[in-house]
Amino acid sequence: MLDADFFRRWMTATAAAVEREATRLTELDSPIGDADHGSNLRRGFTAVAAALEKEAPDTPGAVLVLAGRQLISTVGGASGPLYGTLLRRTGKDLGEAAEVSAEQFAAALRAGLEAVAKLGGAVPGDKTMVDALDPALAALDTSFAAAEEAAEAFAAAARAAEGGAESTIPLIARKGRASYLGERSIGHQDPGATSSALLMAALAQTARAA
Ligand code: ADP
Ligand code: MG
Repeated sequence: MLDADFFRRWMTATAAAVEREATRLTELDSPIGDADHGSNLRRGFTAVAAALEKEAPDTPGAVLVLAGRQLISTVGGASGPLYGTLLRRTGKDLGEAAEVSAEQFAAALRAGLEAVAKLGGAVPGDKTMVDALDPALAALDTSFAAAEEAAEAFAAAARAAEGGAESTIPLIARKGRASYLGERSIGHQDPGATSSALLMAALAQTARAA
């Protein structure tokens, strides 16, 4: 079972990964965006880590709702409301339980992804964060169907997200700033799909350490 501490550690690990990779995320956002994805997410996840420290929410749902709210209010770019919605919706779906199963969490993430799709209108293949998140959640479902350990399932999800991020390179962007470039967006990895792979890698890391 996963408790509030697990989710706090996931958010802290994400904040550390974003800090480490901020330059790369911003570099990816240069040719097909406005070179701010790394700084946007660094600001956002620094605020998330600080808020979690200060308010110490005591359920998984409350941790993710607080994290989502921080991202929405501190990240200026498109990615803030989208990631904020992902975490907030996932957190709301988990309700007020003190502990949740990995399967419940996977179902809640699915609800979170659906809210992202509804807000941003992106479908798989549009060269966005959805291209990393969607295969990650599919890998989670497949792993649980095969009755794998939760840590193995999260590791499979992280690998799928990484593959999904790389799969955006040959795509034409159809949503967000990169879509203004049309065919000139081909040949570049999407920054948001790359940060989504970091989010899933942080999850796998947290599960492995649990
Ligand atoms: P901005 O584009 O406002 O500068 P960021 O640079 O922080 O915001 O984030 C850009 C990332 O947001 C993109 O790489 C893409 O993955 C994601 N994104 C943008 N628009 C959408 C959308 N409509 N749906 C899903 N993801 C999107
Ligand atoms: Mg940008």
